[in-house]
Amino acid sequence: MPLIKVHDKSFETYLAEEAIQQKVKEIAGNINKDYKDKKPLFIAILNGSFMFAADLFRHITIDAEISFIKLASYKGMKSSGQVITAIGLEMDLIGRDLIIVEDIVDTGKTLHNFLPKLQHQQPASLKIASLLHKPDALKHPLIIDYIGFNIPDKFVVGYGLDYDGLGRNLKEIYQLVDAG
Ligand code: 5GP
Repeated sequence: MPLIKVHDKSFETYLAEEAIQQKVKEIAGNINKDYKDKKPLFIAILNGSFMFAADLFRHITIDAEISFIKLASYKGMKSSGQVITAIGLEMDLIGRDLIIVEDIVDTGKTLHNFLPKLQHQQPASLKIASLLHKPDALKHPLIIDYIGFNIPDKFVVGYGLDYDGLGRNLKEIYQLVDAG
């Protein structure tokens, strides 16, 4: 299998473009069905999810809105640790049907910390769509309603996901090749 290099590391093809596109279509089809008489608001989490979000949204045929946010985390003043703030979320979420769009759920920490903030704004419902999920890495309880692919606990790049800034423009998803 052809290897590619991103920075100093080698990666091999893990998910082909066709497989990804097929799966994205499938998820969109399920969402179209599940939200038939609703008008969901997709909230895509930048940067990694931009490509998945765009392809997914293209296949949404019901009335729907989309908004993009960036999460910033910093250490709070108290020992309780991380505080997550959302940048770019200016819409009124009360009574809305929210679908969070993520590239990958790894430990689940990001969403686990962020979801209570959204719940606080009293949406009618809140679901998560993630293209990738590493079940073996999950450390925080999280229900992911729409999962594209369950993958092993190995670093991946491509299709929006980066390695130190590079690799987001790859059409396929590549997995790190272990050194040695
Ligand atoms: P979590 O909070 O679930 O541990 O991590 C979620 C974030 O970590 C993802 O949105 C992504 O930015 C990053 N991440 C986790 N695993 C990978 C991976 O294998 N490759 C890349 N490029 N990013 C990852």
